[in-house]
Amino acid sequence: MIVALQIAVVGCGVAGQAAATLLADTGHAVTVFERFAEPRPVGAGLLLQPTGFAVLRALGLADEAMARGARVDGLEGRTQRGRAVLELAYADLNPKAHGLGILRSVLFDLLHQRLLRSAARLRVGSEIVDVVRTGTTASVVDHSGAGHGPFDLVIVADGAHSALRQRLMPAARAPLYPWGCIWATVPDLAGIGAARLLRQRVRGTTEMIGLLPVAEGQLTMYWSVPVDRLAPGQPIDLVAWRRTATALWPEAAAIVDHAASADSFSRATYRHVALPSWHDGPIVFIGDAAHGTSPQLGQGANLGLLDAHALARSIAESEDLASALALLARRRDGPVRFYRQASHLLTPFFQSRSGTLGLLRDAFMGMSCHLPGVRGMMASTLAGTRRGWLSSVALDDDGHYRLDG
Ligand SMILES: Cc1cc2nc3c(=O)[nH]c(=O)nc-3n(C[C@H](O)[C@H](O)[C@H](O)COP(=O)(O)OP(=O)(O)OC[C@H]3O[C@@H](n4cnc5c(N)ncnc54)[C@H](O)[C@@H]3O)c2cc1C
Repeated sequence: MIVALQIAVVGCGVAGQAAATLLADTGHAVTVFERFAEPRPVGAGLLLQPTGFAVLRALGLADEAMARGARVDGLEGRTQRGRAVLELAYADLNPKAHGLGILRSVLFDLLHQRLLRSAARLRVGSEIVDVVRTGTTASVVDHSGAGHGPFDLVIVADGAHSALRQRLMPAARAPLYPWGCIWATVPDLAGIGAARLLRQRVRGTTEMIGLLPVAEGQLTMYWSVPVDRLAPGQPIDLVAWRRTATALWPEAAAIVDHAASADSFSRATYRHVALPSWHDGPIVFIGDAAHGTSPQLGQGANLGLLDAHALARSIAESEDLASALALLARRRDGPVRFYRQASHLLTPFFQSRSGTLGLLRDAFMGMSCHLPGVRGMMASTLAGTRRGWLSSVALDDDGHYRLDG
């Protein structure tokens, strides 16, 4: 059994906070390093799947998350003419199953308060620029050149645009997707959230708007934008956007109008991240730093939460750190590979300049959602329960994902 490791966590985001808390709770000495003086979430809201929700339950945060989020029963995507391109329901897996739309600020607050209640230490305003190995241990170096450590384990959880990744694992690949999005939280002025669905409208592959219920009377709105128009400082023409978005989804006009005048959009770009391995000696990568994807399947935060749980569980169940990290890789390789590949395959059908992919999507995707076999596979993909292309984990009788499965 491994006892009382000295652990550094780089990044106070979703994956880093969950890992730090779970490891501190099991007796390890954990220090979290965060570059911001005041740790904060960036962006609007996201969809938690039964998988990520199970980790919140393990952290004792499920009831509060349910109370502050919005239950989501499935996903509906339609073209501008109303033709279905996606129709997925959690109930296809289990009548009690559902997702949870949640503001990022709420998810952050839940995880952060829980971290502060644990024995983990938090060092803010500390941007880590390097990790230096000495034998079996490693130290972290911050932006002022100060070293901290040595640590038995350094967990790199610094997100999709990780600067440490390329430095520590030069063989990592992390190309930027050619499309990103603008997103904001908006009041539900059109009753869109009443359907309890993540709803999307698409025209071809260049126009996509999404509305996700994230709290009582609040929605997170996404709008696709090519990355070359998302560069910092580049203005976004919200007058033109308002016209295009309203034509695409007239029923949402009041919400679009409000979003255009409030102009509270953040910009997001995504990467397709692949590492040669999860760890190198005592340095392990989790969350988006290890496997960033496009958000098309709504899995990134869920995968990060599962990584955190699997890491803490693997350490608790192993005799030594090397065996624990090997066990982590065995547990997480299949699901992560599946979601990275599936997101990469699906994204150009929704965000690209390919007219052909748009036509194929409109012709076949909606119909295939109703084919026996395919429907179940698509529902389990949405719910985050896939182990790979051929298998998935069944939800239990209460519609819950079991972390020990
Ligand atoms: C538009 C959009 C929609 C999304 N929708 C969903 C969804 O519906 N469902 C879902 O599950 N996921 C969704 N995601 C993905 C999700 O946001 C990410 O997968 C998740 O936030 C990754 O968590 P993380 O902890 O790995 O990284 P992050 O949450 O990015 O945290 C990284 C932390 O590391 C800190 N940091 C960075 N560099 C350093 C450094 N050098 N030193 C110290 N600290 C550092 C950062 O400040 C930050 O606090 C979406 C993403 C986008 C962009």
